[in-house]
Amino acid sequence: YLANQERRESNARSYPRRIPIAIRKANGIHVTDVEGNVHFDCLSGAGTLALGHNHPVVVEAIQRVLADSTPLHTLDLTTPVKDEFMEELLSCLPPAFSSRAKIQFCGPSGADAVEAALKLVKTATQRRSILSFHGAYHGMTHGALGLTGNIAPKQRVAGLMADVHFLPYPYSYRCPFGQGDAAGTETGSRFIQRVLEDPESGIVAPAGMIMEVVQGEGGVIPAPDQWVRNIRSLTREHNIPLIIDEVQTGFGRTGRWFAFEHANITPDVLVLSKAIGGSLPLAVVVYDESLDAWLPGAHSGTFRGNQMAMAAGTATIRYIRENRLDAHAASMGERFLSRLAQIKRGTSCIGDVRGRGLMIGVEIVHSGQEPDSLGSHPPHPELARKIQKACMDRRLIVELGGRHGSVVRFLPPLTIQEEQVDQVCQIFADAVESVEK
Ligand code: PMP
Repeated sequence: YLANQERRESNARSYPRRIPIAIRKANGIHVTDVEGNVHFDCLSGAGTLALGHNHPVVVEAIQRVLADSTPLHTLDLTTPVKDEFMEELLSCLPPAFSSRAKIQFCGPSGADAVEAALKLVKTATQRRSILSFHGAYHGMTHGALGLTGNIAPKQRVAGLMADVHFLPYPYSYRCPFGQGDAAGTETGSRFIQRVLEDPESGIVAPAGMIMEVVQGEGGVIPAPDQWVRNIRSLTREHNIPLIIDEVQTGFGRTGRWFAFEHANITPDVLVLSKAIGGSLPLAVVVYDESLDAWLPGAHSGTFRGNQMAMAAGTATIRYIRENRLDAHAASMGERFLSRLAQIKRGTSCIGDVRGRGLMIGVEIVHSGQEPDSLGSHPPHPELARKIQKACMDRRLIVELGGRHGSVVRFLPPLTIQEEQVDQVCQIFADAVESVEK
């Protein structure tokens, strides 16, 4: 089975090389392979499956569309399904933002929405440059890759967007301003202020700043709330539209509906995808009406009217709200972090355990090598790969990420239960122990 798959797949689709299973069925947090083995899926379609695989409310919503003669695709024509989806989406945003919000359907991927956000702020401000962050991930299309920090395979692509300035992100474990949230917050945001205000910095009136409140692919790095507030104040003071990319963090993943809510701020532009389509492809940009400068037709695209994705998205949002899965994610996340911290205490290869809600990362380090001046050991991507493989062998699917590929990432469905958190952590502990032997 897998030999055939490898023969058919190009290099670009490399999952089967690292995750050597072929999946036949899936339900909740579990996937069943072609041989009948059941695995824990802590990848969840890269965070897309908020309710896990094939949740009954999502399946039912899709079936209703199919059974109802609802058009499956309508470009951007109005339909009751679309209307309902937009209402549901606006209702989970803070009123200070939703009351002034416009919705731009993009699609179908997160990167498409990032491209739209870029065009939007450039159109509205008539400026060119964009501020982004080291370690940021915004997608693989040309513009989005240009905004992506030092983690993507972008080095070999010639001539990406030139007008992007990368700023330091408060990565407290390896923070250039000293370890810990306080150092990252104070010195980090003052540094950004100086860069914005220094006429010699080369940054002239940016069209926008794009940021993740918790960097995902970059290694699961939550920004301290105060840093996020400082950045919001700075962008307001300098009249720089703030684009928050919640493609991965949105819809309860971090324990709040949106990660920016932890800091009690609102963005000017919000980029959404993944969970918003309830497992089907959908992406939107929600933005403040003051930026609504583009003319009709300035941003179009064929696949913006996927009715099944909108219906699945509506059902997902409703289920999250009715079952308070945002709060559930917060408490399951705490349980996860405390179990992982316990595992960290028993080993030297884990440098850091961090996360917010059900977006969790474990940084694997070279404990045998000299630590840096902050006491953090060098990243150990080879060992992280071995741990990932040992997890897979024990039927736990996890992903790697981070600037050096040394962070084991957990993105379970928001519906995960206490005993499942414990089981997943036990498998991870066994996997770590096995590679240390
Ligand atoms: N932004 C963020 C924060 C993401 O995590 C991702 C995907 N991992 C993207 C953008 C790109 O989304 P897509 O892969 O659907 O293009």
